[in-house]
Amino acid sequence: VLDEDSEIGSSPLPSVPSIADSKWNDTASYAKKKNVQAWYQLSDGNWELGKIISASVTESIISLPEGKVLKVQNDCLLPANPDILDGVDDLMQLSYLSEPTVLYNLQYRYDRDMIYTKAGPVLVAINPFKKVQLYGNEYIEAYQRKSIQNPHVYAIADTALREMKRDEVNQSIIISGESGAGKTETAKIAMQYLAALGGGSGIEYEILKTNPILEAFGNAKTLRNDNSSRFGKLIEILFSETGKISGAKIQTFLLEKVRSSSADFFALICLKILVSDVTSFMNSPEWCNVLKVNVRTIYFINFVLELQLHLESSYTITGVDDAEQFRIVTEALDVVHVTKDDQESAFAMLAAVLWLGNVSFTIIDNENHVEPVADEALLTVAKLIGCEVKELQLALSTRKMKVRNDIIVQKLKLSQAIDTRDALAKSIYSCLFDWLVEQINKSLGVGKRRTGKSISILDIYGFESFERNSFEQFCINYANERLQQHFNRHLFKLEQEEYIQDGIDWTKVEFEDNQACLNLFEKKPLGLLSLLDEESTFPNGTDLSFANKLKQHLKSNSCFKGEREKAFTVSHYAGEVSYDTTGFLEKNRDLMHLDSVQLLSSCKTSLPQKFASSMLVQSEKPVVGPLFKSGGADSQKLSVAAKFKGQLFQLMQRLESTTPHFIRCIKPNNLQSPGIYEQGLVLQQLRCCGVLEVVRISRSGFPTRMTHQKFARRYGFLLLESVASQDPLSVSVAILHQFNILPDLYQFGKGRPLDRRLECLRTQEIGRFMA
Ligand code: ADP
Ligand code: MG
Repeated sequence: VLDEDSEIGSSPLPSVPSIADSKWNDTASYAKKKNVQAWYQLSDGNWELGKIISASVTESIISLPEGKVLKVQNDCLLPANPDILDGVDDLMQLSYLSEPTVLYNLQYRYDRDMIYTKAGPVLVAINPFKKVQLYGNEYIEAYQRKSIQNPHVYAIADTALREMKRDEVNQSIIISGESGAGKTETAKIAMQYLAALGGGSGIEYEILKTNPILEAFGNAKTLRNDNSSRFGKLIEILFSETGKISGAKIQTFLLEKVRSSSADFFALICLKILVSDVTSFMNSPEWCNVLKVNVRTIYFINFVLELQLHLESSYTITGVDDAEQFRIVTEALDVVHVTKDDQESAFAMLAAVLWLGNVSFTIIDNENHVEPVADEALLTVAKLIGCEVKELQLALSTRKMKVRNDIIVQKLKLSQAIDTRDALAKSIYSCLFDWLVEQINKSLGVGKRRTGKSISILDIYGFESFERNSFEQFCINYANERLQQHFNRHLFKLEQEEYIQDGIDWTKVEFEDNQACLNLFEKKPLGLLSLLDEESTFPNGTDLSFANKLKQHLKSNSCFKGEREKAFTVSHYAGEVSYDTTGFLEKNRDLMHLDSVQLLSSCKTSLPQKFASSMLVQSEKPVVGPLFKSGGADSQKLSVAAKFKGQLFQLMQRLESTTPHFIRCIKPNNLQSPGIYEQGLVLQQLRCCGVLEVVRISRSGFPTRMTHQKFARRYGFLLLESVASQDPLSVSVAILHQFNILPDLYQFGKGRPLDRRLECLRTQEIGRFMA
C-alpha cells in the first residue's frame, strides 16, 4: 500500500504508444514497418540499430550504419524504441523490452556518465572505471532533499533509511556482481551516505575507516581486479531510536587463504596484503622497518618479480603509493582503537608469514627426511612469533600422530614439510584476519545494547565461471544460488502472491526457480555437500574417489553432469559450470595440524597464543561435519564446506528478516578501462543476475497499488459532477471514467480477507495519466 509520501510517477514519462510486447505483435501488417527502426543481430552476437526499408511477411530489407543494406529474415529483427525513450532512467519505461533495447539504453546512459539505471526495483550500476562527478556532500544533500531523482546508490541508501524509520524494520542492501564490477566501491558509497545522514556520534568515522584496514589485509590484485576483495563481507550498521548511527558489526565469509597453490598464496600475500607495487614497496622504508625484512631477500617477492618479467605483464598497480597506503592503514587502525603494540604484533605476524615463505629444507637421512635450514629465515620466524628455534624446527619437520593411545612422531619428507610450513603460514594469516575483524567489532561496539534498527550492507562475490573452476568457485556459486533464491522470492514470488491475494487477474510470469540446483547442493545424504564431507572423512578418500561417488549417486539429477576424469558440471541459474575436483578434499578438510597449534601456544608473544586458542575453540564447536583423523591431524572440526554452509544459512536468516534493496553491479569491459562497453559481456551479466526478468515482471504487472480510500481522497477533488454514493470504490470508478482511463491500465483488487480497508486499486503507470 502506498504511503502518503511516496511519489507516483515522479519521473515525467514521455507519451509513448501503449505498452507493447518486445516483439512486433502484428506480423500481418508488415507494410507498416517501412521506415521503422529495428535491431539486427550481427554474426558476432552484437546488435546494430537499422531502419527497415521494406518488408514482406517473412523478410525485410534493412539499412544499417555505414551504408550497409541487408536482406534479413524477420525473425532476426527486434523492434527499437522511439528516440524519445533514449536513455530512460528506469528500464521499465521502455515500450519494447528486449536484450538489445536494454543493452542500448544502458550504453546510452553509460556514455554520458549516467552509470546508474533502475530496473524496476533493482538498481543497475555500471562500473565507470574512472572518477565520475556523482558523489560528495552536495549530491548527498540533494538526494536527501530529493531534489535529484536520478537513480543512484544514494537514493537506495536513502530509501533504506526512510523505510527503516517508517516501518521500524531492519533493512539490507544486497550488492552483487562479478569480480571487478564495483561491489566494494558501491558498498562504500552507500556507507558514506548513511554516515552522512546518521552521523554525529563520531562512530560513523570509525565505520568508514574499517574499509582501508580490511582492504589492506584481505584484498589482492587479481587479473580481474587490481583491488579484489578476497572475502565476502556483511556490515550491519546499527542506528539508535533517534536515527543516529550507534555502532556496527562486521562479519566476513570465506577468506580466500586457500587460493590454490602455496606459491600463489605467498605471491598474493607479497603482492597485495602489503605490496601493491613491488618496486615502490622495496623503496618504502615504512614497510621494511615495520616488517623487519629486507624485501629483496624475500623469496616470493623475487618469485613475483620473475613472474612479472616472464609474463611481461605488470604486477604493479599504477597510482598506488605504498608509503601513503601504509600511513592510511595505520591511521585507520588507530581510529578503531587497535593499540600501537597490537599493530606492531599484527605486522610482525605478517612478516612471519612472509619469512616462512623463505624457510628451506635439507635432507638429513637416506630416507629423504628433511629438516629446516637454520638460516636467517628460520631464526627470524622464531623471533617474530616468539618461540624457540628448536620448537619451530620440530614443528616443521615432524608430525605427531595418535595411534590408539600412543603418540607416534613421524619424520617428514620434503613435500610434507613444505605443506606443513605453508599450512602454518596460512593459519597465521587467516587467524590474523579474524583477529583484526574482532578488534574492529570491539571498537564499533558489538555487544552494546541495541535500541534501534539496522541497515546491513552485503558485499559478496558474484557468480564465478572460469576456464578452470575449483573448490572456491564451488562455494561461491553455491552462495550465489542461495542469494538468487532470496532475490527471486522477493521480487517475483512476493509480487505475484500479492496480486493473487488482491484477487486481480494476473497471468503468471514465468521465472526461473533454482530450487532444483539448491537441492543438488544441500540434499542429505546424497547432495554435493554431504558427499564431499563424507568423502573428506575417509582417510583414503581422494579427489578421484569423490568425483566417482558424485557420478554414481547424482547421475540422474538434471542439474548434474559427470565429466571425464575428476570433473563434473553443475547447471547453475546463471549457466553451466564445470568443476575440477583437484584439491577439493584437501581444501575442504583444511587440516589443522596439532603440531602447529602446539607451536603457537608455546609462543611467548600474545597473538600466536590467541591464534592457537581460537583454532582450538573452532575445533571444539559441535561437530556437524566429519571427524578428521587422517593425514596426521587429530582434531574434530567442521569441514570448510560445512562451516561455509552454516555461515550462509545464518546470513540468509538475517536477511530474511530485513527489507531488501538490490544493487546489481556490472563490469562493462575486462580491461578495467573507462569508456569501453562490451555488449556481450554486459548481456551475459544481465542474464546472470536476472535483471531482464525483473523488468519484464514488474512492467507486465500493476506496480502501483493504492487503497480505494486513498485514491478517492487524493483525486476526488478532480470530479466535475458529484457522485451518488460516496463510498471510496464508487468515487474511484467515477474518477477513472471521467478521465477515460483505458480499462486495461488498472484493476480493482478485492482486498485481503477480512480487511476491507485494504481494498485496492492496481494501476499500470499511474503517473502517466494521473501525474
Ligand atoms: P568488486 O568489489 O566488485 O570486485 P571493486 O568495487 O573493487 O569491484 O571495483 C573495482 C575497481 O573499479 C575499483 O578499484 C575502482 O577503480 C573502479 N570502480 C568501481 N566502482 C566505481 C565508481 N563508482 N566510480 C569510480 N570507479 C569505480
Ligand atoms: Mg570487492
